[in-house]
Amino acid sequence: HKQKLQKFKKLPAQTLDNQQIQLMANVGSLSDFTHLSEVGADGVGLFRTEFMLMNVSTMPTEDVQYGLYCDAVQLLNGKTLTIRTLDIGADKELPCLSLPSEDNPALGVRGTRYFLQHPHLLKTQLKAVLRAANHGSIRLMFPMINQVEELDQLFNLISECQQELDNEERGFGELSYGIVVETPAAVMNLASMLPRLQFVSIGTNDLTQYAMAADRTNPRLTKLFPSLSPAILTLIKMTLDESKKHNIPVSVCGELASNPNVAPILIGMGIAELSVNVNSLLELKAALSKHDLSTYQRWGVEALKLQRIEALNHYVSHCS
Ligand code: PEP
Ligand code: MG
Repeated sequence: HKQKLQKFKKLPAQTLDNQQIQLMANVGSLSDFTHLSEVGADGVGLFRTEFMLMNVSTMPTEDVQYGLYCDAVQLLNGKTLTIRTLDIGADKELPCLSLPSEDNPALGVRGTRYFLQHPHLLKTQLKAVLRAANHGSIRLMFPMINQVEELDQLFNLISECQQELDNEERGFGELSYGIVVETPAAVMNLASMLPRLQFVSIGTNDLTQYAMAADRTNPRLTKLFPSLSPAILTLIKMTLDESKKHNIPVSVCGELASNPNVAPILIGMGIAELSVNVNSLLELKAALSKHDLSTYQRWGVEALKLQRIEALNHYVSHCS
């Protein structure tokens, strides 16, 4: 089986009737980038930048971050890099930031919320990314966004950063901006947010957690609330419908996209791009190449009709 997959290394991700699919990779460290050409990824759809905070005692400076993003851009050789700003708190604890303890950390000051309370830390990252955008194609996305007021604050900070870089006579480039759609509120508020954005990416791990009110780290809930459910498919459909009105492409970067039985359904529903674990990438190329796009579209329509988790999971187990 592994040998059979090898032939997909050099092939683009496409359906049997040659419809191209953007198949990007999720990465967590610079060493992950070195494996991307081995599997023929179309770029990086999610760079979890908080990895760089795992084993350090202080926040990396702007220059250190700039160097890291430039290295990443270079390793991608012209392909798109999607950087997610630092996503901390909840299940992601970091020694260099002493986060106050909270009764409900998953519902607490996490992700972008933390950095809007500590804007100088976010500005360091924003300036590093803006400078790196001078050297390659970079998209920037923000985790844990609920509503447009947060975007107002973010874009004000971005303007401040651009102004400062201008004053410091340091060059910076153009970025595309997006959010990780990972709360039900974000889905419901897309109409007000999409006019400010160039793309959105659905984070199904947290979207499932918040839609189901089920802690993603609690093993006692995994059977009751699996990653694929009628609720999550409905939220994905709502995101697609609203984004279509604004002509904004939707990708999926949560674990759901790495499931070879589910990925064809997501493509059939109209998802433009998947971002998946590097070690699932070849298997996904193989899965997506088996049928025509029209078959996946039919599967998408059928899957959305199923109202029970068990029926849905049974249905997708036959979709390959
Ligand atoms: C998600 O929530 O689906 C996601 C992609 O981000 P993370 O798993 O890093 O929270
Ligand atoms: Mg998340």
